[in-house]
Amino acid sequence: METPSDRRRAVGVSPPRDQGIPQQRVFFALWPRAETQVALHECAVGLHAQCGGRLLRRETLHVTLAFLGEQAPDRVELLRRIAAGQVGKASDLVLDHCGSWHEHRIVWTGPQRTPEQLVDLAQALNAALRADGFAIDRRPFSAHVTLLRNARRAPPPVSTKPVFWRVDSFVLVASELGREGARYRIIDRWPLADA
Ligand code: ATP
Ligand code: MG
Repeated sequence: METPSDRRRAVGVSPPRDQGIPQQRVFFALWPRAETQVALHECAVGLHAQCGGRLLRRETLHVTLAFLGEQAPDRVELLRRIAAGQVGKASDLVLDHCGSWHEHRIVWTGPQRTPEQLVDLAQALNAALRADGFAIDRRPFSAHVTLLRNARRAPPPVSTKPVFWRVDSFVLVASELGREGARYRIIDRWPLADA
């Protein structure tokens, strides 16, 4: 089955063009600081031993808040303004649970309980994006970090060592295709206020 990566490889590494305007593939996300990246990577290595598949690189691990897809530069400016208008609150995310999707090919970790500040941020951001005409997935926000792709088995039904993540900012990210898969570049970051 053709994957987004295959499609992106088919058009080459340079950004796709729409009427001559270069576009960027962008999404809003939570991006972990270095020590959280290390803890998430350890969790991924443990799951990899049990489930097989491909470990995602430590520096690419994230929680997607809203996926926008290909956008022209003027839309990226609008995205910055929408982000700056958010009044989100910081929260403590505890990733204490793992699971799999798509016949176990995607293995992820997530919280058993998502902090309400984070649900509020995701809902407000997605609503603001829709109000400005962005076509956004209507499925409810599901906080998770994808750790493995093309896994062979579901994770065992035991809880993983919890990963603690102080969520005090969110980011806009450009997804670019490199030789080793998607490469992400943080375009900008917005702080979340302490509750
Ligand atoms: P690749 O698609 O090249 O294999 P990737 O999936 O890591 O790499 P993107 O497709 O750019 O990179 O996706 C960026 C993030 O947005 C990922 O967390 C991905 O799971 C999520 N995402 C991608 N497409 C959608 C979508 N249609 N709806 C919601 N989230 C999406
Ligand atoms: Mg993808």
